[in-house]
Amino acid sequence: MNYSPLVGQTALVTGASRGIGRAVAISLGKAGAEVAVNYSSSLEKAEEVVEAIISSGGKAYPLQANVADESAVDELVKNVITRSQSLDILVNNAGITSDGLLMRMKTMEWQKVIDLNLSGVFLCTRAVARTMLKQRRGRIINITSVVGLTGNAGQANYAAAKAGVVGFTRSTAKEFASRGITVNAVAPGFINTDMTKDLDTAGILAAIPMGTLGTPEQVAGAVNFLASDPAAAYITGQVLQVDGGMVMA
Ligand code: NAP
Repeated sequence: MNYSPLVGQTALVTGASRGIGRAVAISLGKAGAEVAVNYSSSLEKAEEVVEAIISSGGKAYPLQANVADESAVDELVKNVITRSQSLDILVNNAGITSDGLLMRMKTMEWQKVIDLNLSGVFLCTRAVARTMLKQRRGRIINITSVVGLTGNAGQANYAAAKAGVVGFTRSTAKEFASRGITVNAVAPGFINTDMTKDLDTAGILAAIPMGTLGTPEQVAGAVNFLASDPAAAYITGQVLQVDGGMVMA
């Protein structure tokens, strides 16, 4: 028997052409949601994700948009609602790094990381809020990072953006709690994707009690749980770490 707890729901996953977003889109699609697969430039990869969902019996379509661009985000959300007639789950996943020590960090490197990783979350959340408030139902899941909790030398821009996402998650969770909308964050540790492929993993692995990098599918499992009903219906404003035990507060 297929387990399809999200049948009849629509999910928008930002940055779903690769890595964690790809795994999240496929996981939500397998759980029965119709998935809008957002991407920035990788049309072919987004189409592969759509194909993977459709071939497993689900529904999906690709939508290009730069989620750091206000009018592109408004258009993206309008397209999803026109096409699917609802928007029940938003996964704010799109993100980039532009690492460097603070003394050498260019303003542009700071700004582009804040624009996508933090302002993008604000723009997408604001754009879906009206629909979710009217429905009195919604799940918003923001992908932050353990680096937003601990800080990391060479990632002041990224850590600031991800810490901002935690504050944003808790504030919007409080604003929306009485309206049937939950807002939570998932904080991955080091996950095997394009973002981490050039890192020297020796030192990193030593800091992870479980001794391995995580997989995108393991992050997708946490997102899928937070999207599920009734399992996660009473959870809001939380940060769920998926990090092999790397950071224990
Ligand atoms: P990734 O493999 O580099 O994939 C990034 C995704 O974001 C791609 O689908 C990319 O689309 C999309 N994207 C980039 N710029 C965009 C824009 N302006 N508008 C819309 N989409 C855009 O990254 P990842 O490792 O899967 O990371 C996903 C999320 O998890 C990020 O928020 C990241 O900060 C967070 N995270 C990752 C790790 C890790 O270890 N990998 C750890 C903690 C947190 P295109 O393919 O079209 O470029």
